[in-house]
Amino acid sequence: MEQKGMLIVLSGFSGAGKGTVVKELTKDDNYRLSVSATTRKPRPGETHGKDYFFISKEEFEDMIRKNELLEHAQYVENYYGTPRNYVQSQLDQGYDVILEIEMIGALNVKTKFPEAVLLFVTPPNAKLLRDRLTGRGTEDDTTVAKRLARASEEVEFMDKYDYIVVNDDLQTCVNEVKSIIVASRNKATNNINFINNIKYELNEIAKGVN
Ligand code: ADP
Ligand code: 5GP
Repeated sequence: MEQKGMLIVLSGFSGAGKGTVVKELTKDDNYRLSVSATTRKPRPGETHGKDYFFISKEEFEDMIRKNELLEHAQYVENYYGTPRNYVQSQLDQGYDVILEIEMIGALNVKTKFPEAVLLFVTPPNAKLLRDRLTGRGTEDDTTVAKRLARASEEVEFMDKYDYIVVNDDLQTCVNEVKSIIVASRNKATNNINFINNIKYELNEIAKGVN
């Protein structure tokens, strides 16, 4: 019997390399990436419907009211949230779904879906984080400072995650994330249907059927 898909939640400090890691993961057809809604303005090269659903504050608040978001949070000056329908339909079809979301949302997801696997991606040290964030060149100095301040808050809750993955060499990091996903999928608690199925088959054999 087919198992329902697994929720994979990937968080990390701004500039840690989450987006870069997720891009590598989604080259594999087996994963579905949830596209979030946000009130943030698009960065150059970002596309509506692919990177985010870029919407107004009013539209976002409407989605909250209509219970269309699985989770949402405020990050620095904007709202971010996970549209519920896509995630639910993919999980129901048995696909693993990746949510690339910040910490408040991630911990809310864990409360609602205790079997979700939570990974936190981090550079090997803080200086590299600052260099990556500034090197990306997508935020002004004030926003970079706010994002680094947010990282100082997030660090207090890193131990709530299931796994910490260091993003030093990108390919090593991606391989580690993939290994964690495979190991999580193989957990006994994620294979109850399989266990029940083989239990049934063994009973049938014991009864002399087949
Ligand atoms: P996040 O999505 O976590 O904010 P990004 O994926 O945008 O971070 O990465 C931040 C910057 O760091 C980008 O310029 C990206 O190219 C770079 N980067 C990501 N991973 C690595 C890595 N392993 N080594 C060197 N640079 C990296
Ligand atoms: P960015 O502006 O750099 O794209 O994202 C800022 C932060 O918002 C990142 O930590 C990112 O993971 C997070 N984020 C993106 N989408 C969502 C979402 O749907 N929900 C929550 N809670 N956080 C999100």
